[in-house]
Amino acid sequence: MLTDDELLRYSRQILLQQVDIDGQLRLKQSRALIVGMGGLGSPVALYLAAAGVGELHLADFDSVDLTNLQRQIIHDTQSVGQSKVDSAMSRLTAINPQVRLVAHRAALDSDSLAATVEAVDVVLDCSDNFSTREAVNAACVAAGRPLVSGAAIRLEGQLSVFDPRRAESPCYHCLYGHGSESELTCSEAGVIGPLVGLVGSLQALEALKVLAEFGEPLVGRLLLIDALSTRFRELKVKRDPGCSVCGSARQ
Ligand SMILES: [Zn+2]
Repeated sequence: MLTDDELLRYSRQILLQQVDIDGQLRLKQSRALIVGMGGLGSPVALYLAAAGVGELHLADFDSVDLTNLQRQIIHDTQSVGQSKVDSAMSRLTAINPQVRLVAHRAALDSDSLAATVEAVDVVLDCSDNFSTREAVNAACVAAGRPLVSGAAIRLEGQLSVFDPRRAESPCYHCLYGHGSESELTCSEAGVIGPLVGLVGSLQALEALKVLAEFGEPLVGRLLLIDALSTRFRELKVKRDPGCSVCGSARQ
């Protein structure tokens, strides 16, 4: 059940008929893994903690750098030099002490990644590199966990939800596995702060929808955001039956 304090804290979203008390209870009983406590992970962690997701696993092996602060809004000037996970945990505890926080300060190898993905209900990929994205996707397909994937670089953002529980859903590899995606990161190519905030906020929204079971998630659709012209486009994306990650695992 929800306590009086929880009913009050979450009252504005409980008011929504799509959430209601049942949805809030589902959030309280949910666990999410956030891979990367950077520009995308910052709004994701802030909103999921504020919304009352019961348990958040925070994964990042990096420490806060002065150049992060332009966009990684969970960290502040005081936290430069500190582990990103520790910096995020103190901020999240201040926002909502009721959320259980689990720290993953070392890089997740394939075994620990698989075990952690299996221990949660949804995974949010907020990393900044292709090899991590591929590893997270493979672990999600293997464990049958929905993956909310976001990316932003320069003035362009992308967002999609991959849900292996749905037969028609593609996985990340179906979409990006064949392309020779350049290995540019924000530290090399640059990025504008509010764009990662926007993509991260949408990732948090999609995760809340998946966990509380309302609305229509962004499955089988790729949202493209052009920050320069403020245009949103949507592409239909199909599952690749020959995909080396999800192709045989499903049958
Ligand atoms: Zn696939």
